[in-house]
Amino acid sequence: MSQYLQIVGGRVYDPVNGIDGETRDVFVEGDRIVSALPRGIGPDAVTRLDARGCVVMPGGIDIHTHVAGPSLDAVRQVQTEPGDLIVPTPAQAGHRYSAMGYTTIIEAAVELDELPDTPRRLCEAVNLDAGFLLELGNHKPIIDLLNRDQDAAAIELIASLLRDSGAYGIKMVNPGGVLHYRHCHEEPTSLDQAIGGTRVTPRRIMKLMSVAADQFGLPHPPHLHCYHLGLPGNVYSTLDALDVFEGSRVHLAHAQFYSYSQTDDGDYTSAADRMCEYLSRHPNVTLDVGQIVFGPAWAITGDIALEHRLREQLYGPDEPASEGPLRIEYEPKNPIHSLMWATGLELVLLYKNLQQVTLSVDHPNGGPFWAYPQIIAWLCNKPLRDRTLAAAHPVASQHSRLKDIKRELTLQEVATITRAAPAKALGLKNKGHLGTGADADIAVYEHDTADPQRMFECARHVVKAGQVVIEDSRARETLPGKLLPGPVV
Ligand SMILES: [Zn+2]
Repeated sequence: MSQYLQIVGGRVYDPVNGIDGETRDVFVEGDRIVSALPRGIGPDAVTRLDARGCVVMPGGIDIHTHVAGPSLDAVRQVQTEPGDLIVPTPAQAGHRYSAMGYTTIIEAAVELDELPDTPRRLCEAVNLDAGFLLELGNHKPIIDLLNRDQDAAAIELIASLLRDSGAYGIKMVNPGGVLHYRHCHEEPTSLDQAIGGTRVTPRRIMKLMSVAADQFGLPHPPHLHCYHLGLPGNVYSTLDALDVFEGSRVHLAHAQFYSYSQTDDGDYTSAADRMCEYLSRHPNVTLDVGQIVFGPAWAITGDIALEHRLREQLYGPDEPASEGPLRIEYEPKNPIHSLMWATGLELVLLYKNLQQVTLSVDHPNGGPFWAYPQIIAWLCNKPLRDRTLAAAHPVASQHSRLKDIKRELTLQEVATITRAAPAKALGLKNKGHLGTGADADIAVYEHDTADPQRMFECARHVVKAGQVVIEDSRARETLPGKLLPGPVV
């Protein structure tokens, strides 16, 4: 492999640098993008990739996924039916991500007792940079320090946990709520309820994590899995929780699951418009969508209150309160599933400034990550999504605004929700764009306006850290996975 690379004649979509479909070459020296190749180098010293008739974007970034860890191992043990194999090994996941032009992922929740195994397994995800977030929202020693009003010591403990683990950032899963549920088998009903036999409240835990993240200057803000996931009316408690951050940065995970109001009869109704309106007034907040796709999924979560609720819905109240992954089948004829499908799409389509919104499925919770091309197709093509809507339960049309939304995303907007916005939310300054000095992570797709799903399913060329890993839609080189280094704390 030569040190120099030239991607020739593609139409470049790079929202960060304001390049919207211009035909131009992209140059790479080593593992970086450069503005031009040095003068005087011979033609043989340069690898050229033909991108004429193609679209060139920065490598895709999945801000919230799960590819390594004991829950996924457990699913892999039991998933057997053909068509049901949606949890690949980390190595297989790496290949599937790079086939779609993705080059960076974030493992969104690693528990302290999974260290150092899960980060080690994450490195098996070939052709990817992978970072992980450390779940700290229910860590008993931190909560005990807060209970004794030793906030400074709690912040020091968070710093040492981040340092020792190499985590990229802080995750909070139902902060305080998991501990409380283990204590008394109930979820806290408000942000100000003392949890788990202490004086500490969920509000105080979130505030502490916010102060810690600001104090350490973390590139990615606290990543919040909020309360009452999937319950009707939860948009109000979610927006209350986001208010706790008072202008400091926060990232709301899988926001679709928190975007529900309810009718007078207690039925679900989409509140995506309310979520988008909040977002437009709060530039400190970013979110990933948590879209669901119809078909098999696996609920793997550290939120045991949620897990027990789901288990009861699926198996009835007599099911013993065991823990572990739950198989879900999202069905278009199920009123709640169809509304969830519509609400996720609304979260993108109703929000003008997509800089705060990232596409995610919370793999494998909302479905497999290789559904991204299908979701992009729904977002880019109104007739296509109208066909899916017509086949879904009528509640999806009645209780959401999806049928009236005419917007179709442009390729620049697709590049925003899959590249620029996640890089910004993660504070990855050298990713998500193609400017000089950026990491040479690049995806080239054959332009197909009639079939965006096909276009994004199979990238024509993929470059990772300056190396060609896919050429002419065939795997060429396999690079070892690399852990994104945690910030210096
Ligand atoms: Zn998740």
